[in-house]
Amino acid sequence: MKLDVDVLRYLSREDFRVLTAVEMGMRNHEIVPSVLIDRIASLKHGGTYKVLKNLLKHKLLHHDASKYDGFRLTYLGYDFLAIKTMVNRGVFTAVGRQIGVGKESDIFEVSREDGTIMAMKLHRLGRTSFRAVKSKRDYLRHRNNYNWLYLSRLAALKEYAFMKALEEHGFPVPNAVDCNRHCVVMSLVQGYPLVQVKELQNPEVVFETILGLIVRLAEHGLIHCDFNEFNIMIDDDEKVTMIDFPQMVSVSHRNAEMYFDRDVECIYKFFGKRFKMTFEEHDDNVDVSEVDTDESSRPSFSSVNKTAGFLDKELAASGFTRKEQDEIERFIEGDIEDDAGGEGEGTEDNGHESELNQTTIKDLDSLKLEQEKTTSSHNEEDRIGESQQTSNVSQSRESENEEESEDVNDAQLVKSLTKQRRRAIAAASRGRKNYASRNSYKDKGGKSSHNSKIQKQLNSW
Ligand code: ADP
Ligand code: MG
Repeated sequence: MKLDVDVLRYLSREDFRVLTAVEMGMRNHEIVPSVLIDRIASLKHGGTYKVLKNLLKHKLLHHDASKYDGFRLTYLGYDFLAIKTMVNRGVFTAVGRQIGVGKESDIFEVSREDGTIMAMKLHRLGRTSFRAVKSKRDYLRHRNNYNWLYLSRLAALKEYAFMKALEEHGFPVPNAVDCNRHCVVMSLVQGYPLVQVKELQNPEVVFETILGLIVRLAEHGLIHCDFNEFNIMIDDDEKVTMIDFPQMVSVSHRNAEMYFDRDVECIYKFFGKRFKMTFEEHDDNVDVSEVDTDESSRPSFSSVNKTAGFLDKELAASGFTRKEQDEIERFIEGDIEDDAGGEGEGTEDNGHESELNQTTIKDLDSLKLEQEKTTSSHNEEDRIGESQQTSNVSQSRESENEEESEDVNDAQLVKSLTKQRRRAIAAASRGRKNYASRNSYKDKGGKSSHNSKIQKQLNSW
């Protein structure tokens, strides 16, 4: 998906206010009724409908009139809310080119005022996994109340918390800068994913370093679960940095040994194939049952001195609590178990190389956002995104592609929005109650959406 950040420059305060109102409504509606959006946003003279039209035009919202007239955020809309928050916080001032397309994320360069370049990862849970989940009806039935925005936010928070904790324990990871909604900002790794490296000066040293990391992670109570050439970055001095942490599990996980072995196997396989390294234990001509094999060379789960829960305190400090760990683990488990026996991202033939090339190149200066003085509003605005709870919606979300191809200029829709706007203006002069009661949709949570706290949050935009 293309992130056309230019649009961000032209979005007004009202636009963000309505976008935020939709986000709030999505806490308990899959599709947020237009009337509710209007009520939350509380723009004067039916202004909400005009803004909705604009947001729809820029694909920040998706319109759905199948059950009642309503909207939901698209990933792009969610991106903009997170980016705006980061800019308001002074984390970065510009978004540049896309540098990576991961399995479940898009990675962009962002720059600070002083020109420092960092990496911004936008999590897209559900982009690929949804298809897998969809095919597992039972799995879905038990968890029909997951909201993809919420899951992506959890994934980002998990990644941020782990990155920070690992950094504190001296692991070679990017510096975790900040996190909001589904967005993580981190330092830019100067190097390339190992998958792009054709030659190494010291493959043995790199190999040992990487295996050492798997062991040290386990000693700290963790297994990466996706430790492969796509998630290991290497610089010109052959220094290793590991990335991509949303799927990490504890060594106390019931399948911990299998995940540990899989991570180790991925590394063996890749170094064998790419750098032609040979490993004694892979000698198929030797019957291992008859010889006293030297197992000490290959790390084994049982021989590692593991300390589960070692990082719990650090993780909680970033706001990633046990409850959140459980929630995301339950979802991700479905995915990594799917991969079990397979290779995760881990082979060079699975199309990721071409995926990496599908980057959208945009000038770094494509967006220069004025940093707003919002120190006081910072906390309130955070709460909007960060207090977002699991919504009790059922998931029938179609792919983002579908909505991209959708004709947003649909004349009927424009007509209906204009009509709604006119009605809202009329209702405003008569009092909103009449209007709401005429609508087929009944807002059960209507009262609470009127409270002053929300208004205060909205005013912070
Ligand atoms: P996913 O979880 O979707 O696999 P990753 O975190 O692995 O996402 O990132 C995908 C790609 O983006 C990586 O393979 C790498 O090329 C690039 N990338 C991610 N983080 C950084 C970073 N901090 N610095 C430089 N490149 C990065
Ligand atoms: Mg990855």
